[in-house]
Amino acid sequence: VETPGEDFTTYQLMGLFIVEDRGSTINVYDQHAVHERVLYEQFSTQYLEKKDKFPTQPLLVEKSYKTTDLTNDDDVYRELVKSLELTGFVFTETEDVITITAVPVSFLLISVDVFLQESVKDLTDSIEVGTSETKEIDDQTHRRLAIMSCRGAIKAGDPLSTFEAKQLIKQFHQTTHNATCPHGRPVQVTLTKEEMMGWFKR
Ligand SMILES: [Zn+2]
Repeated sequence: VETPGEDFTTYQLMGLFIVEDRGSTINVYDQHAVHERVLYEQFSTQYLEKKDKFPTQPLLVEKSYKTTDLTNDDDVYRELVKSLELTGFVFTETEDVITITAVPVSFLLISVDVFLQESVKDLTDSIEVGTSETKEIDDQTHRRLAIMSCRGAIKAGDPLSTFEAKQLIKQFHQTTHNATCPHGRPVQVTLTKEEMMGWFKR
């Protein structure tokens, strides 16, 4: 029985996984998929509750981009702006420049440059993000939230402190849905003590 918030030993493994020792089982999580799930849950909750005040962290140095450097496709640019709005970015726009001044606090982030580049790429390509788990979120909104969650999440190889790893897993167990990453990979695998003892013929 999994008790959310219980104090298990949790740590990062190989820069890819989060491992949680639950006494008689070990849970292994894909760090990207877990974070992505947590972000999606936060964004969709905000969206459904129509809250417009996201906790944000101001950038030390605000980032300005010529819109044509991000994309030459005006529809993709509008999609990007909608997606940034939906997920709580703080930014200003002039005719041909967008300036980002704050990012959602739940992004453990990241390079804003890389984030924008990758988001634009996903919004341009028709990447598969599945469909919304609830009728209250239309497919277009789901797509925006899914792409922002995927691109805002930590990646394989990103360092994670023990505290951050613990927090992520706690938040993950509080999410109501357990869908996979838009890439369709599983989030979590469980190993039992019996299984592991079997490895050693015990
Ligand atoms: Zn992803």
